[in-house]
Amino acid sequence: MINWIKEVEQRKEALLKDTQAFLQIKSVFDSATKGGDAPFGQGIREALGFALDKSKAFGLEIKNVDGYAGHGEIGHGNDIIGVLCHVDVVPEGDGWTSPPYAAEIRDDKIFARGAIDDKGPTMAAIYALRIINELNLPLSKRVRIIFGTDEESGWGGIDYYLKKEEMPSIGFAPDANFPIIITEKGIATISLQGRIEKEQKEMNKAKVTTFLSGNRTNMVPENAMATIAGDRMLLDNIQKDFEAFLEGYDYQGEMKVINGQLELKLEGLSAHAMEPFEGVNAGLELIHFLLSTEEWLTIDQWMLWADQHLYHDYYGEKLGIQYEDNASGPLTINPGIFHIEDGNITIKINIRYPITNDMEKMTYMVREKANTIGCNSILETNKAPHHVDKEHVLVQTLKRVYEEQTGQEAELLSIGGGTYARALDTGVAFGPLFPGRVETAHQRDEHIDIEDLLKATAIYAQAIYELAK
Ligand SMILES: [Zn+2]
Repeated sequence: MINWIKEVEQRKEALLKDTQAFLQIKSVFDSATKGGDAPFGQGIREALGFALDKSKAFGLEIKNVDGYAGHGEIGHGNDIIGVLCHVDVVPEGDGWTSPPYAAEIRDDKIFARGAIDDKGPTMAAIYALRIINELNLPLSKRVRIIFGTDEESGWGGIDYYLKKEEMPSIGFAPDANFPIIITEKGIATISLQGRIEKEQKEMNKAKVTTFLSGNRTNMVPENAMATIAGDRMLLDNIQKDFEAFLEGYDYQGEMKVINGQLELKLEGLSAHAMEPFEGVNAGLELIHFLLSTEEWLTIDQWMLWADQHLYHDYYGEKLGIQYEDNASGPLTINPGIFHIEDGNITIKINIRYPITNDMEKMTYMVREKANTIGCNSILETNKAPHHVDKEHVLVQTLKRVYEEQTGQEAELLSIGGGTYARALDTGVAFGPLFPGRVETAHQRDEHIDIEDLLKATAIYAQAIYELAK
């Protein structure tokens, strides 16, 4: 019997040191420094190089696939078990307690952008292979840890890799939650586009000239801005209403007059589009406020439409697209972008839909609703849902290992997010965030508990060995 956690403990100092050094590389997508062997910028190139160098030092066969991705491999045989990680991170944002790339250790946690998503678990997976290698355990399959490079921006790296290299038959992505995620919902973005007709301006009322909210469809927008033109008296009244509104509102707002136009700004609360109910959509809140000023303001069709179909509705009920199945849970929607300027309307809605959802019916329903205000609806992007049967040997093996090491039942989960697991025919997400831990990915003060990092490493080592022996 191998004592996996003991094997990890024996390498703890080196694991922590390597994880910190890895986190100290600012591997954010950077178009200013991309080119040549750095298709996503110098920071990501450096992080990929670091992961490959470490892998090589631990006895793995490595390959750098033109800077788009790379891998480290051990074992023999035809089949490949894939472990899909990524070395890029989202931008750090503001408000950190310690610098986001210092990788400071406090309270037995490592704080850094990428600590939990996904460089901490990437280093855990490298150490898992290191341990199997150093114990000279016999393998009948190959195990390949694949380092993706732009998981957070466009998946160009992993797509390039999978075209050039062999596809692992089965595998997992250490890039979400424990225990095991066997279902990932489909992810569609629908864009509504149209024009505001000029004659919609009512006599003796002010008018919204610009309305902007959100810049990524996969986040709940935390800012919204409206510019309003009209007579001084009308603008004064709207301003007074806004002041009163802010008193009963949980977040900040701002107003000022620029070039004779009133500018209103409103904050909300950002959240991941797969959990829109965790956030406050600043765009929809500001629209809802504007509708309350109709005594002074021209109400455009699009505003009324958005309020009636989207406000405080996270499940698409008002759009008529609510749906749910046992494996996936409910469909969710996130109106992530409102861009109304120069008479052009663009509203983008990100939809996370269950595996048995009828896509055609869903897009038809949205199109019909959009048509009522003269907007077209375009299916901009669509990633099909992903699901692995719970009886599959991959799932059963991971389940057994997880239960053995943690003493907890390994519940099989569904998420609305998309991980690299769906790049494989038979892939699941497996860790690294343990149940009950606070999710800090993409947030300030992102961190990983050192104890969890060690536990995850031990679980990955045994899981890989059981799958490949
Ligand atoms: Zn990730």
